[in-house]
Amino acid sequence: MLYERFGPRHWWPGDTRLEIIIGAILTQNTAWANVEKAILNLKRQGLLKPKTLSEISEKKLARLIRPSGYYNVKAGRIKNFLRFLDEEYGGSIDRMFRAPLNRLRNELLAVKGIGRETADSILLYAGGKKAFVVDAYTKRIFSRHGFIKEGSDYGEIQALFLKNIPNSARLFNEYHALIVELGKNMCRVRKPLCAECPLRRMKNG
Ligand code: SF4
Repeated sequence: MLYERFGPRHWWPGDTRLEIIIGAILTQNTAWANVEKAILNLKRQGLLKPKTLSEISEKKLARLIRPSGYYNVKAGRIKNFLRFLDEEYGGSIDRMFRAPLNRLRNELLAVKGIGRETADSILLYAGGKKAFVVDAYTKRIFSRHGFIKEGSDYGEIQALFLKNIPNSARLFNEYHALIVELGKNMCRVRKPLCAECPLRRMKNG
């Protein structure tokens, strides 16, 4: 229903795997439009490569990503990721993504500032791995339809999806992107647009 209504989402926006990873870190607590501005600053300076990004100071990085908000914290997170990439995989994103899903997920979660949603976004959208991403939109939509409780834990919700939908990275990619589209445009916090929503029949039983 969502696919029919919104069409393919072509997620995640980004020309390279590193750009997607940086985007996943920068999008925490901010609108995507702000992330785009921050990424553009990095691109203009030719910094979207692990080595060049590792070489600039955290202070300079923070200045460049300022539009994304919480820029000092996020610069620290990006630097933490780059340090991890360098130490564990010799700075190679290709090598990193050759690691098995569960091992890499645990390693990413051990990087300070990378939580479950960010780790799964990196794994799915930059790595093409079978990691289902749960976000605030997922929680809102599926709790409004009674599939999950409002306060359900990330792992619980993820497990529910993994149990009920085919285990395909391509599907996970499109599914999450469609959920975001629905959450942004229709299933808003206040005054959801149920009358025009493709999921309204599901709601009414
Ligand atoms: S029918 Fe209403 S509650 Fe359900 S997803 Fe659509 S907007 Fe949200």
